[in-house]
Amino acid sequence: MEWAEVGFRTSHEAVEAVSALFEETGAAGTVIEDPALINEYIHSGLWDYTDIPEQKDTSTVTVKAYFAADDALDEKLAALRMGLDAIAARGVDTRPAEFLTARLQDEDWANSWKKYFHTDKIGKRIVIQPSWEEYEPQADEVVLRLDPGAAFGTGTHPTTAMCLRALERLVKPGVTVFDVGTGSGVLSIAAAKLGAAKVQAADYDATAVRVARENIEANGVAGVVSVGESDLFSAFDGKAELVTANLIADLVIRLLPDLDAHLAAGGVLLASGIIDDRAQEVREAAETAGFSIAEDHAEKEWHAMVIRRRGGS
Ligand code: SAH
Repeated sequence: MEWAEVGFRTSHEAVEAVSALFEETGAAGTVIEDPALINEYIHSGLWDYTDIPEQKDTSTVTVKAYFAADDALDEKLAALRMGLDAIAARGVDTRPAEFLTARLQDEDWANSWKKYFHTDKIGKRIVIQPSWEEYEPQADEVVLRLDPGAAFGTGTHPTTAMCLRALERLVKPGVTVFDVGTGSGVLSIAAAKLGAAKVQAADYDATAVRVARENIEANGVAGVVSVGESDLFSAFDGKAELVTANLIADLVIRLLPDLDAHLAAGGVLLASGIIDDRAQEVREAAETAGFSIAEDHAEKEWHAMVIRRRGGS
């Protein structure tokens, strides 16, 4: 299918009303490009790719959305224009009120991120190879062929990279692994290739489950890794020696009360996606739930922690 990208440059004041209008009109995805926010991200160091230049004009915001470029498109654009007039008529300053349209192919939209993702050695042994690149591995390297598609997990984000490095040490031959919030399946595939006997991967997002399944098959580890939908631990039965959870601080905290039920004797939780500001809270929640922090790794503003039962049992 072909898609039309429709943008509207407007004031900060009008952004909410305009993006609500885009959604009401049937946009498939709405993006707000706020140059002020882009500058904030650049300065925060939160982005891996800082080839986006500092934005000079921060006075306006662009609301962008994608509409199917079919017979109904003209009608939708007309409805959009009327809606924008109605917003202005309510006294909201929508200036500069500039309409931008571009038609783009589905392919371009789906593939535009690929230029940022290349073969990359993450740990001592793990190499992430996008499925569209060629790579000749060295003797002891563990190569993960990945196509993250719409799911999170190219392996290069600090939160994932820290997990992959830890997995090189934590995955002992024959262990069982639970991977909560598997995204592209990256951690599960790594665990299987590092020698885990059984890996159960899950995500609450159906798209992630589909992408993970494709990646698991493409890496030839479908015999070891099973994947399904689950809200945190809800669909998990039994115990694992290693639980991976690259989520966010809130979800790691939510996971902790159920951890004891899913951790085998001597097992560990590898928790990541924990932002600096919330790290102390996670440490305290772990202590409260009867665990202790065995390792705390940090990269940029992210933490990955290895958490085990207090006393090591
Ligand atoms: N494990 C991958 C992806 C991490 S991104 C990696 O390390 O790179 C976090 C993933 O957790 C996303 O795919 C998201 O869909 C999933 N997620 C978020 N909330 C969840 C929940 N409540 N239960 C299960 N998965 C969840």
